[in-house]
Amino acid sequence: MRLDDGTSIDADALVGADGIASPIARGLDDRLRPRRAGYVGWRGIADLPTGEDPCQFWGPAREAGLMPVSEASTYWFATERAGSDARRPDDPLAHLAERFAGWDPELLALIAATDPAELLWHPIEDRRMPRRWSAGRVAVIGDAAHPTRPHLGQGGAQAIEDGVLLGALLAAEADPPVAFARFERGRRRRVAGIIRTSSLLGRALHSPAPIGVPFRASAGILPDALMVGQLRPVASRAAFEDHARRVLGS
Ligand SMILES: Cc1cc2nc3c(=O)[nH]c(=O)nc-3n(C[C@H](O)[C@H](O)[C@H](O)COP(=O)(O)OP(=O)(O)OC[C@H]3O[C@@H](n4cnc5c(N)ncnc54)[C@H](O)[C@@H]3O)c2cc1C
Repeated sequence: MRLDDGTSIDADALVGADGIASPIARGLDDRLRPRRAGYVGWRGIADLPTGEDPCQFWGPAREAGLMPVSEASTYWFATERAGSDARRPDDPLAHLAERFAGWDPELLALIAATDPAELLWHPIEDRRMPRRWSAGRVAVIGDAAHPTRPHLGQGGAQAIEDGVLLGALLAAEADPPVAFARFERGRRRRVAGIIRTSSLLGRALHSPAPIGVPFRASAGILPDALMVGQLRPVASRAAFEDHARRVLGS
């Protein structure tokens, strides 16, 4: 592999973990282009504790959630509709205070307590999976292989699952192309399901069409039991262990 600075690296295989705009994925499938989905995501960590378990708020064409990350700090996220030419607002905290006015007071306090310089703002993008995840000794993992909208909180989680499982397959198999083929065979269906469900959730939450109206009538907390039940087949330890057995044993 030749790098931009002119140096070259000899290796048995190349694994591209270079994100949604991956040139390595485009090398596998030249039709791939990220496209904005019509809304943007905000993420921040506030130096404020929360007594709450993780929770989520859904309102008209917006959603938000919060999760304690330590005894003294809390992660929060929010999404809102935005055109394809949307840019990060100059005063993000004022913008968010206005967009989420009337929502849960704890959420608003967390947003207000976040350092604006540390606030992440990203347009949510779609990009299909490449026709195949590998060719010979070149493969892609993570968002390069299977970008997903954030509504199940699974993009990073699935990238980590990729790393764990591909690592195990490569350790057990001397021929990288064989490991890559087993990896894709075992993984593609699981991530395709997650992409489909996340996309449906995103469309329902952010569509201007009537779909989802009853859920968007006001910002309300989804009952914990429902949230956990929905995520169990995707995000539970048991679901991963079951999946890993199938991938590694296949
Ligand atoms: C608003 C929002 C909320 C999210 N919430 C969650 C969540 O709650 N849980 C979750 O699991 N996931 C979440 N995600 C998704 C998660 O962020 C991604 O799925 C994850 O970061 C993908 O990891 P990755 O390593 O595959 O790609 P990336 O994180 O995109 O990393 C790719 C890396 O490759 C580098 N790179 C690219 N091109 C080159 C090059 N040519 N040479 C060298 N380096 C290069 C980039 O600089 C980058 O560092 C969220 C995403 C968004 C936008």
